[in-house]
Amino acid sequence: MALSDAHANPEKFDNQLVLLVGNGKILRKVGDEELLFSLDSLASLINFQTTISHVIGHWHSARVSVLQLAAADIQRISKDYEFISLRALLGEIQSDLFQLLGAGLQWLNWYTNHQYCGRCGVKNTLFDEGRALHCEACNLTCYPRISPCVIGLVIKEDQCLLAHHTKYKTHRFSTLAGFIEPGESAEQAFAREVREEVGIQVRNIRYIKSQPWPFPGQLMLGFSAEWLSGEIEVDGEEIDEAYWFDFDNLPELPPKGALSREIIEYVKQEKAT
Ligand SMILES: [Zn+2]
Repeated sequence: MALSDAHANPEKFDNQLVLLVGNGKILRKVGDEELLFSLDSLASLINFQTTISHVIGHWHSARVSVLQLAAADIQRISKDYEFISLRALLGEIQSDLFQLLGAGLQWLNWYTNHQYCGRCGVKNTLFDEGRALHCEACNLTCYPRISPCVIGLVIKEDQCLLAHHTKYKTHRFSTLAGFIEPGESAEQAFAREVREEVGIQVRNIRYIKSQPWPFPGQLMLGFSAEWLSGEIEVDGEEIDEAYWFDFDNLPELPPKGALSREIIEYVKQEKAT
């Protein structure tokens, strides 16, 4: 639903909360933890030049929409408000709210990047109540793309393998991860990533849990696996350090809320009981 429709029919917006996004970041009042705006507060905040809106789910009893702010609206917002990245909120807010905000950002990112048909180049239009974009010229329908990834912990007796990624700015250690390639099962992808990144063979790969990771559109599938053979030999490209750590003497880990951290804590707890 374009906001112009909703503005012409304001009753459609009763009992709604709105996530406001500008340049890929979330708007909030400075010093206020609230990340969703009521309709009353919206009127004084933006000019309704907002380019697009879409219903992304529910929060408590309210329906939640994401609105992409137009450049004119962003310029108009007072210094009492600030834009914050979703990544900065990881572990700082409830996980179900984080997921809801992530769904909004993911939808906007997909919508922005698929304005034209990938097959024939004609402008797409929203379709299937905003779940898809559709090309009327060649009949191609495009739904948001989700990229499956694997992430997991390799275990060797009372130790686990944690790695320092070259992209990390701090001396934090994490589990190994990577994208699933065409034709692979999730388990095969995890075994391949471990082999490629640290030169280890694994067995007994076990699924633990998953997490949507909207940076910009991954679904992380979390595993554990047992060491089978091989010595650690880092690839030097994605991983520059990797070691076996005792579960009771772990290094700096990813923040709470990240699936990597949850898998480490989960397996540590299992080992302790
Ligand atoms: Zn087309």
